[in-house]
Amino acid sequence: NREILLVKRPDGEPTDEHLSIEEAAIPALSDGEAIVRLLYVSVDPYMRGRMNEGKSYVEPFQLNQPMEGGAVAEVIESQSDKLQVGDIVTGSLPWREYTAIAAESVRKIDPALGPVTTSLHILGMTGLTAYFGLMDIGRPQEGETVVVSGAAGAVGSTVVQIATIAGARVVGIAGSEEKVQLVKQLGADEVINYQTEDVSSALAEACPNGVDIYFDNVGGDISDAVYPLLNKFARIVQCGAISSYNKKDDQGPRIQHYLIKSSALIKGFTVGDYRERYPEGLQHLSKWLQEGKLTYEETITEGFENIPQAFFGLFTGENIGKQLVKVNEP
Ligand code: NDP
Repeated sequence: NREILLVKRPDGEPTDEHLSIEEAAIPALSDGEAIVRLLYVSVDPYMRGRMNEGKSYVEPFQLNQPMEGGAVAEVIESQSDKLQVGDIVTGSLPWREYTAIAAESVRKIDPALGPVTTSLHILGMTGLTAYFGLMDIGRPQEGETVVVSGAAGAVGSTVVQIATIAGARVVGIAGSEEKVQLVKQLGADEVINYQTEDVSSALAEACPNGVDIYFDNVGGDISDAVYPLLNKFARIVQCGAISSYNKKDDQGPRIQHYLIKSSALIKGFTVGDYRERYPEGLQHLSKWLQEGKLTYEETITEGFENIPQAFFGLFTGENIGKQLVKVNEP
């Protein structure tokens, strides 16, 4: 039984020196608990924040304790009447191959309803983030221009598609030619490769009628290039700022002037703000998925020992769509 511990807090980029794969104890079972075998692990940018000391909206990871996060697992032993051997469950689990869990701490998923991995993205955290951020804060109207940064990622690729469903003109920004092609296939009208193009001039060309909604996953220079194009009453959905997660003193943004002259709204959020409305979000996402209006991309890395590399790769853009790690066959 192996586990992955946080052994050092990173100053900048997370690397191998911060995580350690160790031998873990064989889990012991108590009443009301089950032992689960890890199948899929979701690695997410927010985990970088949890590696820092100090409270944010989630508790920091503890030193010399396992990292943890969204995962899918299979019940292999149970002393709870709520879980049977063979059940597939999802929840926040430690990065450990076999773990004893309280039955209430996980949710059962029905593999007959679709691939179990969807509970970790399109029908889970990143899908709900895209849905509520865009629909509740962005509120797209037909014909409006929506700019999406991080457009080929798990959240961004979903936002592109929902904005397209809403009848908006969609402009994506992503970091490679392959990603540009994918985002176009997902329905974006224009896609900018920020690694090879001048973002300001490319945006001005791609948004002749200005920008009504900016769904921001990245912050930094890319966002600085969007602000001058904001239309009157534009909405900025501040979902993420991955360009700054590994930086100690990121400068800017100098956004106030642009907010005033465009009467724009900027609103940050975390998906948990919408917990009560998850059923509504999931209903829309599953319906669009069934109707073929919504699709998803996954990048699946194989092997428990490769979880750290998959996580680090989020900050260098290795993934297209949702980055997952497959630990075991269901
Ligand atoms: P992604 O699947 O988008 O993976 C991260 C992507 O970010 C990379 O593939 C890379 O794509 C891009 N990226 C990495 N570093 C930089 C950089 N320095 N500048 C610009 N782009 C960069 O992750 P998620 O979809 O899970 O998350 C996207 C964002 O949404 C993150 O900021 C995350 O923190 C946030 N988030 C917020 C939630 C909330 O509740 N508010 C919930 C979930 C996510 P590329 O090759 O295009 O650069």
